[in-house]
Order: sequence, then C-alpha cells, then structure tokens
Amino acid sequence: MNYDRILIRYGEMSTKGRNRSKFTNKMKSNIKRLLNDDRVNIEAQRDRMFLYLNGASFEDVKEKLVHVSGIQSFSPVVKTSQNLEEIKEAALLLVKKAMDGPASFKVSTRRADKQFPLDTHELNHEIGGYVLRGTEDLTVDVRNPDFTLTVEVRAEAVYLSSETIAGAGGLPAGAAGKAVLLLSGGLDSPVAGYMMMKRGVEIEAVHFFSPPYTSERAKQKVVDLADVLTRYGGNVRLHIVPFTHIQETIHKQVPENYTMTSTRRIMMRIADKIRQETGALAIVTGESLGQVASQTMESMAAINDVTNTPVLRPLIATDKLEIMEMARKIGTHDISILPFEDCCTIFTPAAPKTKPKTEKVQFFESFLDFEPLIDQAVRETELIMLPKKEAELDDLL
Ligand code: ATP
Ligand code: MG
Repeated sequence: MNYDRILIRYGEMSTKGRNRSKFTNKMKSNIKRLLNDDRVNIEAQRDRMFLYLNGASFEDVKEKLVHVSGIQSFSPVVKTSQNLEEIKEAALLLVKKAMDGPASFKVSTRRADKQFPLDTHELNHEIGGYVLRGTEDLTVDVRNPDFTLTVEVRAEAVYLSSETIAGAGGLPAGAAGKAVLLLSGGLDSPVAGYMMMKRGVEIEAVHFFSPPYTSERAKQKVVDLADVLTRYGGNVRLHIVPFTHIQETIHKQVPENYTMTSTRRIMMRIADKIRQETGALAIVTGESLGQVASQTMESMAAINDVTNTPVLRPLIATDKLEIMEMARKIGTHDISILPFEDCCTIFTPAAPKTKPKTEKVQFFESFLDFEPLIDQAVRETELIMLPKKEAELDDLL
C-alpha cells in the first residue's frame, strides 16, 4: 500500500484574508524548492494543499515537510477505487499502521459523490465493522478517539487517511518580507534566524569575518549554520564581510573598554548598508538581555544609536537553556558548539563596559572617519547562496 498524496493544512495563514494567496504561493514555492523532486506536484487550494507524490517516497517527503514553516499539520492519503472491498482492505491496513498498542478510533466519511450506493452512515458502519473484526485492542470512540480514519468518496476515486502529523506552524518563510540576520558562529543567532523565518521572514545573513584571527573553519561553521536554516523553507543568502581591518582600526582608535561597543556599532552600520542594498526591512540579532556585556540595556542603546532601522531581537527574553534546547531541536546546536572562534571572541577586551555611554563612544569614534572603511568592507563582501546541493548537505549531517 503506497501513499498517493499528502493533504497539508495551513496554520495561521488561513486567517490572513487578502494576503492568503500570497502566503499559499510562497509556501508552495518553498516546498517545491525544498523537496527538489520533479515527480512531486503541488496543488494549492484556498484552505488546504495537496501534494501528489507520483512515486516519490512519503517518508523522504515527510522528513522535509515537518520543518516547513506555515504548515499546521499534514496527512498521508491512500487512493482506492470505489470498490467497497478495496476500500475496507485499505482502511484495515491504514488502521494497523496507525496503531501502536490498544487504541480507540472512529471512521469519518465524506461523500462528495452522491451517486455512491451507500450513505455516510452505512459507509462508517461497513468500514468500521470490517476494521474492528480485523484488529485486536481496538475500540470505537466517536467523541474522543485516539485517531480518526477519514474516508473521502469522490467520483474518480476514494481517499483514506489515518494519520495526522504536526507541522512546524508559523507562517511561510518569505511571506512577511526580508530581514538581515547578524549571524555569528554562536548558539543564539541561528536560533534567532529560525524564529524569524518561522514568522514568515526571509533571511539575508551577514557574518563578520576577521582572517587571519579567525580561521576558514570558523567561516565554514557559519556557512553550515545558514545552510541548516534553509530547511525551514527559505533560501538564505549569506554575506561574508571582511572585518579585519576595521577591527584593528577600532583597537587602535578606541579605549579598550569601549572597543566592543564600537565594534558592534560598526557591525550595525555595515548590516544596515547591506539591508538597504538588498531591500530588507529590519535587522535581526541573537541578543538576549543580560547574557553578556554587550547585551545590557545600556549597551543595546549605545549600539542601536547608529540606526533607525528596526532591530528585532527574538531571543531578548529567553534564557540560555531555552535557547540551547531550541538549537538542538532545529539542528544548529552541534555546529554552534564547535570550538572555532569568531572575530568577537578574539578581540573581546578583558573588561568591556557593561554600561557604555552613547556620547562617550560617539566621541571616541569621532576622531576617525569610519565611512570609507565601511564602504570598502561592503564592496568586498562575499556572497554565498544557500542551500548547498543535497550531496554536500548529507556529508554535513
Ligand atoms: P551568538 O551566540 O549568536 O554568537 P552571543 O551570545 O555570543 O551570540 P554576542 O557575541 O554578544 O552574543 O553577539 C550578539 C549578537 O551579535 C549575535 O547574536 C549576533 O546576532 C551578532 N554577532 C556577533 N558576532 C557576530 C559576527 N561575527 N558576525 C555577525 N553577527 C555577529
Ligand atoms: Mg557570539
């Protein structure tokens, strides 16, 4: 018995009124790109989506679909002819597959083809009775069943399903516009990126790279992290900004306890330029209040001083433990904890200011025009398009 199609139920999207078709189209193209399998056809309807497998393996597709943001749940569906014996046989097989020990169930039939000789009541009865006789430890519970066997009788065929798999929820990546994600090699920023993607945001990732202080492996780590993020439905463009010269300049120019604040301000200015160039609307960081010196409210104010662009901090009120748990769940944790240092770890002063003053950092920066350095860094930025090809991805996981 092979699954013929998958029924996909939308999450919040169904409530989005006029934007709905934009959302469903986005989800459709996200799924298509992610599955990358010409056999699979997708038909987006107003309130649900059908994915026709045409011979593709349900298990393979399922593994990818569970991550796609915007999907509330999905069900694999089996197709039979209108022959009652065939329907009953398929029902029994599906129920056996769905059962994992004693369970209760009910049959729920929809009869779109009114010509079919049995009505829904008779069909429920016929199919339910057959399934009960063919299984042990199964009872009927019409009010609160462990699972429901759905049967849809249409003129061209009959469709059965017994399983509902939870999706990732949220909104389709890209449906809400674009943002620049400051992506370090750490634990937090990939999780922040995931959370925004889940709310429909397409990501332009920006990473500041300081060779030779940071190695190629540190950069590879960031590429791998950005690649994992593409599993959630969207492509990710990764901008690698050469940052060595600027970091060295800051260290010559600014008193040591203010270097971190200043570094972050320059990062923000560069990110804002890239945001403008790419048509993104906001900047996303992995900051969490009080986690480190740069993440006090005073620090964030001093850093944020360089731009009016909305800076979104989805992790601001989460604890490190929660972030780590999420990182495990989304598959970034093990990459993030690899020991290659990023540019900030290496240049971090022994005692950074935890309550920097905006006027002071402005004053320290006023002796040098950073603008040409910023422009040069943006010009020399390397762009990497993700996801990588399947084969490379498999090596990585
Ligand atoms: P993370 O785990 O994301 O590295 P963190 O706890 O180490 O965060 P910081 O190092 O203070 O905190 O960084 C705060 C935020 O600044 C990061 O979440 C990230 O968004 C951004 N950031 C830091 N370093 C870089 C970098 N090298 N390139 C791009 N963004 C960075
Ligand atoms: Mg970090």
